[in-house]
Amino acid sequence: MHELGITRNIVAIACDSARGAPVRRIRVEIGKLSAIMAESVRFCFDICTEGTLADGAELEIVEIPGRGRCRACNQELDMDLPYGCCSCGSTQIEIIQGQELTIKELEIDTLCA
Ligand SMILES: [Zn+2]
Repeated sequence: MHELGITRNIVAIACDSARGAPVRRIRVEIGKLSAIMAESVRFCFDICTEGTLADGAELEIVEIPGRGRCRACNQELDMDLPYGCCSCGSTQIEIIQGQELTIKELEIDTLCA
């Protein structure tokens, strides 16, 4: 399950950015064509945050739908899979959205100086 490594990365980046402050909430965007299962990330999240700054943090996952552009006719189309066929018959489709994995928002406890 490669989501375990990915989730570890998300948690590591979040904790890094928090600079020592407890992380309250992490919002990530996962593209539907990224081959990352949102449910698996959610499942791994509790394991990966244990003992870190993000322990007990809330994980919010936003799924980004797939979009592609046909190289032959330049038409944009919705995609559920990372490959497909345009209505013009071409299979040369460039994926323009849906492969991303982005940490969108991080909510941390601000420490009083
Ligand atoms: Zn086309």
